Amino acid sequence: MSHNELDILREKVDTLNLQLLELINERAKAAQEIGKIKEKQGMYRFDPVREREMLNQIIENNKGPFEHSTIEHIFKEIFKANLELQQDDHRKALLVSRKKKPEDTVVSINGENIGDGTPSFIFGPCAVESYEQVAAVAESVKAKGLKLLRGGAFKPRTSPYDFQGLGLEGLKILKKVADEYNLAVVSEIVNPADIEKALDYIDVIQIGARNMQNFELLKAAGAVNKPVLLKRGLAATISEFINAAEYIISQGNGQIILCERGIRTYEKATRNTLDISAVPILKQETHLPVFVDVTHSTGRRDLLLPTAKAALAVGADGVMAEVHPDPAVALSDSAQQMNIDQFDTFFEEIKKGLFISSK
Ligand code: PEP
Ligand code: MN
Repeated sequence: MSHNELDILREKVDTLNLQLLELINERAKAAQEIGKIKEKQGMYRFDPVREREMLNQIIENNKGPFEHSTIEHIFKEIFKANLELQQDDHRKALLVSRKKKPEDTVVSINGENIGDGTPSFIFGPCAVESYEQVAAVAESVKAKGLKLLRGGAFKPRTSPYDFQGLGLEGLKILKKVADEYNLAVVSEIVNPADIEKALDYIDVIQIGARNMQNFELLKAAGAVNKPVLLKRGLAATISEFINAAEYIISQGNGQIILCERGIRTYEKATRNTLDISAVPILKQETHLPVFVDVTHSTGRRDLLLPTAKAALAVGADGVMAEVHPDPAVALSDSAQQMNIDQFDTFFEEIKKGLFISSK
């Protein structure tokens, strides 16, 4: 083949490419029109029967050299691309994404602005055990000028025989203490049916790691006007975590705080593996504030301070840790909660690192 012949063939291919391009886009426009009509009629856009009919007609007319299977594959890709084109924008850009909303979301809880650039802190016992126990921690939280108090009333425990929490009674204790010390309460809800009644007692609905993909719970939390602290699942990817937050915001509630709390890996030196890089990734990909729970991620008192510093250094908006007046007798997580003295030291060290007074 002469050089000239090759050039002629290449030119022909170039022309055909452009013709194909035009035809593909023309086809896409027609499909978009069909999509609009279907939408008006309330019809579902994906129609496998129609796709099969189109493929059959195409195959019947295929004279080669491509094999039927190759042609089917190419056209299936065209069908898919058209379907995607017909789908709404929000399927491509999630409501929690920076793409959708470039500016940071700030979640305000009783005067504490989470995600405003100054770190926030959530401290409190793993589980509410008594009024005295919660009040002792609240006093220490208050003395530090902090505003948020945590405590579990509904405890999702690995064993059904372990302490399950005081339930509504626990929420009542939290509310009483919070009112006395002018603190806001963060507490986990595990059952969608409990959300309504919990609204009177708590300021932030915590959705725990084990429930990150409890979609009914996510939807129920999304349907109320109350901030939600969503923890990452034990074995959830960042994408699954982001989609869990999308479940909440899709129902109208955008007051969401993400919380990295460690994921399960083969490592046994810590209770979970704190995925520190999740923090900047979540900050880049979403507009939501990001917390790090240093207690459940490490499961080790000696690692609370270094991991809290690391969390703030990589851009976390806040840190959560558990504090108990007498961890040795705690009904849950006794190995990793700080006592009040340790809490004082921990917070002093954090403040030194940040050169902040407290907010
Ligand atoms: C908690 O914060 O009380 C808790 C149970 O944590 P997680 O859901 O992250 O295990
Ligand atoms: Mn705990």
